[in-house]
Amino acid sequence: MAHVDRQAWDVVVVGAGGAGLRAAIEAREAGMRTAVICKSLFGKAHTVMAEGGIAASMGNANEHDNWQVHFRDTMRGGKFLNQWRMAELHAREAPDRVWELETWGALFDRTADGRISQRNFGGHEYPRLAHVGDRTGLELIRTLQQKIVSLQQEDEKEFGAYDARLKVFQECTVTRVLKTDGRVSGAFCYERESGRFFVLEAPAVVLATGGIGKSFKVTSNSWEYTGDGHALALLAGAPLINMEFVQFHPTGMVWPPSVKGILVTESVRGDGGVLRNSDGKRFMFDYIPDVFKEKYAETEDEGDRWYEDPEHNRRPPELLPRDEVARAINAEVKAGRGSPHGGVYLDVSTRMPAEVIKRRLPSMHHQFKELADVDITAEPMEVGPTCHYVMGGVDVDPDTAAATGVPGLFAAGEVAGGMHGSNRLGGNSLSDLLVFGRRAGLHAAEYAASLADRPVPDPLQIDTAEAEALRPFSAEDTEATGDAADAGRVPAENPYTLHQELQQAMNDLVGIIRKESEMFEALKRLADLRVRARRAGVEGHRQYNPGWHLSLDLRNMLLVSECVARAALEREESRGGHTRDDHPAMDRHWRQINLVCELADPQGDSRAADPALGQIRLSRRENPPIRRDLLELFEKDELAKYLTDEELSR
Ligand code: FAD
Repeated sequence: MAHVDRQAWDVVVVGAGGAGLRAAIEAREAGMRTAVICKSLFGKAHTVMAEGGIAASMGNANEHDNWQVHFRDTMRGGKFLNQWRMAELHAREAPDRVWELETWGALFDRTADGRISQRNFGGHEYPRLAHVGDRTGLELIRTLQQKIVSLQQEDEKEFGAYDARLKVFQECTVTRVLKTDGRVSGAFCYERESGRFFVLEAPAVVLATGGIGKSFKVTSNSWEYTGDGHALALLAGAPLINMEFVQFHPTGMVWPPSVKGILVTESVRGDGGVLRNSDGKRFMFDYIPDVFKEKYAETEDEGDRWYEDPEHNRRPPELLPRDEVARAINAEVKAGRGSPHGGVYLDVSTRMPAEVIKRRLPSMHHQFKELADVDITAEPMEVGPTCHYVMGGVDVDPDTAAATGVPGLFAAGEVAGGMHGSNRLGGNSLSDLLVFGRRAGLHAAEYAASLADRPVPDPLQIDTAEAEALRPFSAEDTEATGDAADAGRVPAENPYTLHQELQQAMNDLVGIIRKESEMFEALKRLADLRVRARRAGVEGHRQYNPGWHLSLDLRNMLLVSECVARAALEREESRGGHTRDDHPAMDRHWRQINLVCELADPQGDSRAADPALGQIRLSRRENPPIRRDLLELFEKDELAKYLTDEELSR
């Protein structure tokens, strides 16, 4: 094998979105030499797309808001399946993380009296989202980047090199987390432009790679979302939890086809936008589930009054949690009351003056004008559900973000599971990134500093990782052993075709509404795709070759898709981002259960295993009981909707 460059660091952070940058800042401030590695250009991570805001109970727009109310909303939104300790830490620490961003230079929108403005969002009792128009993610990343640059300037003064203690490797992909004697020892990586391989040695690796949306056909997610971190964790021996819970955001663009899935921010509804069907009816009033009945307006008048007087009115049902709104839109379209392009109407044009729309929702105004030739100040938008966020992810310790079972591995942000339970509230991701990104960086640094001896990557593992990465260039030969060799070369599979088939299968069979027979069919198709993906092949060389990158990403998407399908088949109830046509009710007994996905053959090289067989082993794990003082934040009547009688009597 060719020589592979190796560089030694204390902490490697995989991902330069909100979670990764926040983790890197913390690790560097703890004195660790920290490397950040990301697939896209620095500053272009998926987080820049975040629009609506960061949820934090600062109480600027309503003084009654506090961390306990935020905790309650988060647990309700997740239908009580959340890892409660994560939800608690998140609610307690989010305000500090927002104020900290401001001290680092973030320019939030202001209230009339000069405080950080906070807006309404689905499932949040009070206006809680700190925002910068509808471009909050961009400002978040810009601020964290600026902080990183300032830390690098300090290093230049002290050590004469900007990247002495904090270096960004942009447009590079990690394909394997390396382990030595059961502990993390580094990451195997390649430069996307040149195809050059290299190894970042480090005893601590933080996964901050975001989500999995590119396994679905209609998605709001960016090209980076191929589930890499989820797969890297599995391959390193760390389990994933709650993978059946995938959030379909209710409002993605449905037209024109080239932009189908692109997000229409929830702020449109938070600021007064309403959903109507083809009869012009505000249909959400027909879809308020029993668990939320007391909290939502029964009439349009009451819902409309709430925007001006939230103390004496209940919120409109357009602001129910996302899973409820997505299912309602799906039902309206199925019932034949959809818009011409298969969505429903979302209208702000009759709700506020044109100049207010342009000021509060500048990106939406621009997006519809440019992409669909629709002026949202004059006509309604057409919208429908789009795959948006994965609640499932790496099983982590709530306090330290350490991945279960793999010393030295940490995970934060969308790649980590548990925090959001079965459904995430809007705005709770950006706050999650900051709270748990910081914690992951801190604990990764502490872990690295605590080691007397550091594990060193094994050259054999590096060779294996290199061979795995080069495989698509000799895909034709893959099956050319024994009889196949006699019969001639087996043709390579086109990675783009495989990707399209995977996306179609996941969309059609494991999408917003699921049933047993379809998920069996999905697992069959995934097995077939796995066999064919072993022959995913490309021509040419390693210099910028997108087909090669996709061939490597397919391994990750197939692993993650199998987790989603297996867990979705197992969970025989409907809850949050998991709706079973054949088990439509929420079942209190299932709340106690987390579904855990692990690699079926953790010791073996996954390539050696028969790809037709499932690669994932699924097991059930009991959800730890919620701490008593946190339970006491809820009325007993409400708890009775989620907890079993036995749990309540305990
Ligand atoms: P990301 O920001 O996605 O960063 C992932 C990083 O990992 C990237 O740098 C990527 O290049 C890198 N990476 C991935 N794989 C590899 C690999 N193999 N090797 C190296 N690097 C890798 N949430 C809110 O709270 N509020 C909002 O208003 C909001 N609006 C949204 C709007 C849109 C359109 C979308 C799609 C999402 C929105 N979300 C919002 C959700 C939120 O943006 C994401 O959940 C969040 O940004 C994820 O951040 P992250 O740090 O976990 O990952």
